[in-house]
Amino acid sequence: MVSILPVEQTLIERVRWLIRLRWVAAAGVAVTVVFAYGVLRLPLEPLPLSLTVVGILLYNLIFHFHQRRSALIEPAQARLRGIYQSFHAQIALDWIALTVLLHYAGGIENPFLMYFIFHAILAGILLSRRSSYAQAALAILLISLMTLSEATGILPHSTLGRSFGFGLHDDPLYIGVLLFVFATTIFLAVYLTTEITTVLRTRERESARLDESLREANEALLEKDRARSEYILRVSHDLQSPLAATHSMLSLVIETMSESMPEKGREFLQRSLRRVEGLLRLARGLFDLSRIRASRTLAIEPIPLKQIVEAAAQDMLMRPGKGGCELTIDIPSSLPFVAGDKDHLEMAFIHLLTNAAQYSLPGVRISVRAHTAGEWMEVTVQDTGIGIPYDEIPRIYEEFYRGSMAKEMEPSGWGLGLTLVRHIIDRHGGTIRVESEVGKGSRFTLTLPIYTTSSQ
Ligand code: ADP
Repeated sequence: MVSILPVEQTLIERVRWLIRLRWVAAAGVAVTVVFAYGVLRLPLEPLPLSLTVVGILLYNLIFHFHQRRSALIEPAQARLRGIYQSFHAQIALDWIALTVLLHYAGGIENPFLMYFIFHAILAGILLSRRSSYAQAALAILLISLMTLSEATGILPHSTLGRSFGFGLHDDPLYIGVLLFVFATTIFLAVYLTTEITTVLRTRERESARLDESLREANEALLEKDRARSEYILRVSHDLQSPLAATHSMLSLVIETMSESMPEKGREFLQRSLRRVEGLLRLARGLFDLSRIRASRTLAIEPIPLKQIVEAAAQDMLMRPGKGGCELTIDIPSSLPFVAGDKDHLEMAFIHLLTNAAQYSLPGVRISVRAHTAGEWMEVTVQDTGIGIPYDEIPRIYEEFYRGSMAKEMEPSGWGLGLTLVRHIIDRHGGTIRVESEVGKGSRFTLTLPIYTTSSQ
């Protein structure tokens, strides 16, 4: 498929601009004629000049409606073709109109001849190299025909008087030099502009191609990553049931039969239970992580932040050993809704709160606060726990990374919690950052989008 390049988009905008400019130019010509004829008393022919201005206004009106109609044409390629044709016609007609104006106002003696350069540059920038040269040839042909017809008497010559090269219109040397300078100026203008725009167009084409192949490669990688996550999702899901069953059975055995067992046997059973608990946590962590990675979209809905933080806090407080903390949730009910996936956000807060309680000594104070910041909700989860060493902070979101102090304090983690939290926040388009000091505590700050009608 051929996509529209920025330079082609520029053509569409330039055509509109040229039409607008032509209204001004026609008015400018009219004012100039009135001034030259009325004030400077130049020997002009006002009637044909005025008729030419009317002609310019008329064809500009046609181009104006054509451009509005062609904006609706589909597909884009057909629309672009129409605009190219209109642009060609506009340049050709402008050149014809300018030649007619010159003819009735001094011919080759009129310095406004130089105005041909503007369209030569425009054509060089916006048209292909071949079309630009064809347009340049048309301009040179028109001026040569006018000059030679006037010099040979085929067409009458209107003089502007002594101040404007009087009597030079049939001087062969003057005509020869002027036509040569005119032709080389027009061709050089086209040459220079087409050279520059050809390089720019090639670069644009290359970068568009590169963008496309990067997009495809990225899509393929994402697809592979999704396939890998789906595989881990299945395995971790299938592992959870037998591990949960083993865990329940071991717990039951320990509860009901450990009294009658020798000390060593009881110790083995306890150790096995802890191992199974660890494996179960790993399977759950991998399951949650791959679930969010494999999902293509989130179920975005308006979420009352306070409600999900309270639900997450309840979940965290019910976990073994997490009940001894002092938790404050300071989220005003008047805050706007967050645009989010309820399950995923709740999971993120469970992990943040569990970490805050886990990497702390008994009596830790944990607080969750929220406020709006423009179109975002800023939420902080702060604790007075062990903190994170400065050099470990950049790595804490890595998969399976565990901090040195955290490993000592809680040997059974897997380093998946913050990876998951980061993933969830990223998928919501938000951010997460942490400030921490060893021995004083940590503060995680999240930003989440506020729900608006366009959030779905
Ligand atoms: P895990 O808790 O299993 O180690 P996480 O991904 O949740 O894995 O956390 C990664 C590391 O970040 C932890 O090992 C710990 O070093 C550090 N960390 C996270 N939250 C806190 C916290 N609230 N206080 C201190 N350290 C933390």
